[in-house]
Amino acid sequence: MARIPHVINGEKIDAAESYGPVFNPATGEQQHEVALASTERTNEAIAAAKAALPMWRKTSLTKRADVFFTLRQLLKQRTPELSAIVTSEHGKVLSDAAGEIARGLENVEFAAGLMHLLKGERAEQVSTGVDVHSVKQPVGVVGAITPFNFPVMVPLWMVASAIACGNTVVLKPSERDPSASVFIADLFREAGLPDGVLNVVHGDKTAVDAILDSPDVKAVSFVGSTPIARSIYQRASENGKRVQALGGAKNHMMVLPDADINMAADAAVSAAYGSAGERCMAVSVVVAVGGVADRLVPAIEERIAKLVIGDGTDPASEMGPLITAEARERVASYVAGAEAEGGTVVVDGREQQFTENGYFIGVSLIDNVKPESKVYQDEIFGPVLAIVRVDTYEEGMELINSHQYGNGTAIFTRDGGVARQFEFEVEAGMVGVNVPIPVPVGSFSFGGWKNSLFGDSHIYGPESVHFYTRSKVVTSRWPDPATSKVDLGFPGNE
Ligand code: NAD
Repeated sequence: MARIPHVINGEKIDAAESYGPVFNPATGEQQHEVALASTERTNEAIAAAKAALPMWRKTSLTKRADVFFTLRQLLKQRTPELSAIVTSEHGKVLSDAAGEIARGLENVEFAAGLMHLLKGERAEQVSTGVDVHSVKQPVGVVGAITPFNFPVMVPLWMVASAIACGNTVVLKPSERDPSASVFIADLFREAGLPDGVLNVVHGDKTAVDAILDSPDVKAVSFVGSTPIARSIYQRASENGKRVQALGGAKNHMMVLPDADINMAADAAVSAAYGSAGERCMAVSVVVAVGGVADRLVPAIEERIAKLVIGDGTDPASEMGPLITAEARERVASYVAGAEAEGGTVVVDGREQQFTENGYFIGVSLIDNVKPESKVYQDEIFGPVLAIVRVDTYEEGMELINSHQYGNGTAIFTRDGGVARQFEFEVEAGMVGVNVPIPVPVGSFSFGGWKNSLFGDSHIYGPESVHFYTRSKVVTSRWPDPATSKVDLGFPGNE
């Protein structure tokens, strides 16, 4: 059985005190084991990153940019291979895996523009003979801790900008699908990134705590579930680090009676069930306003009947398995409890039979969901779509704004005025207008509000440059050449 190694200072290290299993979710079989880092091993990676920092800081912006231009090509060329790795450990269908690589490429492209991103500002003559300019300098060693659901895209959200800004990185990917990070580190190396600039350690809480507690780590980027995000934020900030910790979500999609029903139904199905609902931008709740549910629910049901669920390597599959057997049980338990909470189970994903031994479950659609129910309140992180019926736009808005999460949201309508009002008053970090999963393009930043983000900086894009750099402001005055001449030793300069 292959052992997935750490990558420390360019070296692959698979010796460890303990190992974790890596399953193929489509078959339920263990396919690899992954080395789990001890505190000492994690500290070795941090030390490698710290040692590489002075060299990488001094590396010219042109040379840094070259790495990203080459990496972009390599990622494009190797997309089929990397997609296969993602599908085998995560379970998502190959087209979804290729899709996340394409989205991650946007972050690499953004990083390649570092020449423009790292410009400071200058003001001349702020006082007589005095000028001021600012520069952006790297923060130092960055800890990057990522979830299982996007094993390529989320690491690239962090490492591309952090490295472009002159930092060095210790990446701790999810131990459930760790191979993609090793592959990415290999591509960075092939693209010319010097050893030690990007290190990968696998592990669990032990490795994460070592990153959070090390005085040599200056900034921490985290993406994962809300309880862990909150604890990461507390511990890292208590230790004096800057930290951004993105958490969970419960994304609402409001559908008004004037919406295009086919458009809304297509969007609801792809956004709720794509990647088996294991997306932080998945739509989990449709807020159906003023009787629109009577048309929308049958349209969604009709589409669900055609959805092909199967092994992600089968080109016919549109949705793969969940990540673990526990995740499947958890999702099933929400559907099991839905009716007792007052919901109407229109489609019960537990009833679908699968021949494979993997962690498959069918998709569920639950109508008449009550706002006080667990199905509504909790992040289920699986293929379950709740429909909440409300009479008015105002009632729907009140519902969305009262929820503990504020990651993404969307409105489906033909009325531009209402869409504008929605954008103005909804409490969420990312908003779609007739767009179900409004993940911002790489030239903007990604982040939620409320319990979906701890810290103040969103991830990737312009806010990442702010997060991964410290600004320094220089105030300077020079002797006036008219009154203070210096003999430089050549004619005309006396
Ligand atoms: P998770 O919180 O279980 O794990 C995330 C990372 O934290 C992993 O690297 C894991 O090893 C580590 N970790 C787990 N338990 C820990 C602990 N007790 N102490 C320290 N570290 C710990 O999340 P997950 O199940 O891998 O991913 C799914 C979650 O991530 C969902 O809640 C989803 O909404 C969220 N997510 C959010 C975004 C976003 O942008 N807001 C994006 C993707 C995923």
